[in-house]
Amino acid sequence: MDELRNRAKELFEKGEIDIFIGYEQGTRNPRPIFVGNAEDTQKLVFNDKCTGNLAVYLTRKDLVKGKRVGISASYYALKSIVQLFVENQLKEENLKIFGLANDGKIEALNSLDEIKHYIKDTPPPPKLEDDELIKQIDAMSSAERWAFWSDELSKCFKCYACRAACPMCYCTKCIVEVNRPQWIQPWASTLGNMEWQINRVMHMAGRCSDCGSCSTACPIGIPIHLLTHKMSETVKANFGDPSDKGNVLSTFKPEDKESFIL
Ligand code: SF4
Ligand code: SF4
Repeated sequence: MDELRNRAKELFEKGEIDIFIGYEQGTRNPRPIFVGNAEDTQKLVFNDKCTGNLAVYLTRKDLVKGKRVGISASYYALKSIVQLFVENQLKEENLKIFGLANDGKIEALNSLDEIKHYIKDTPPPPKLEDDELIKQIDAMSSAERWAFWSDELSKCFKCYACRAACPMCYCTKCIVEVNRPQWIQPWASTLGNMEWQINRVMHMAGRCSDCGSCSTACPIGIPIHLLTHKMSETVKANFGDPSDKGNVLSTFKPEDKESFIL
């Protein structure tokens, strides 16, 4: 902990950053903190409860526009940072990144290549509960799976906390707010909720870091991150590792089959 605080402090003292994004202790769990000076770096914490993906703040213009940013990034946040670079949302020269490993080890990552190597050499944190649920869902028939997701998504009340927690949801106008034409019913209903999540998952194709922040943010606890997880697996199985491909969502060949278009 002290090492993180001291290294963040040093960045301020050397005048290399204007803001540092990390975690501080909240009333129950750690919460994000945006440190603006050397003194406040002493509030920084990092432990296994720091699970929110802090990369989500790197595209928030009201927070970081025109600023040099330092960030403490867990494994999944680093994966999101790589994807944000691929999508031209970040500039290397404006960022100072500390990779935080599960054992508390801190590593300064000064370029996109360094982050990619770090991720490659670091095993992802285990997700035992997810693995068990994925096993159960995979063992279902299609009808059972449909019933499972219909039931889960019927509880959604469209608060969009999942969208706010996701580093990949940085559009200034989301499809759910477009009303000419209206692609998605704005009110909560099983069909409208399905439309919303199907769109969300499609837009995450090859981009999701598997951080699970969308589910953690969901007040009802719908395991929606498993939908994007499945989409990531599908993309990987069909096209290879998406991190080598750029932005899968917007990558196409003119000769691609269009038989799916009615
Ligand atoms: S869709 Fe969910 S799991 Fe994937 S990057 Fe966004 S918040 Fe993380
Ligand atoms: S956070 Fe949960 S309830 Fe809110 S829109 Fe997302 S899935 Fe629905």
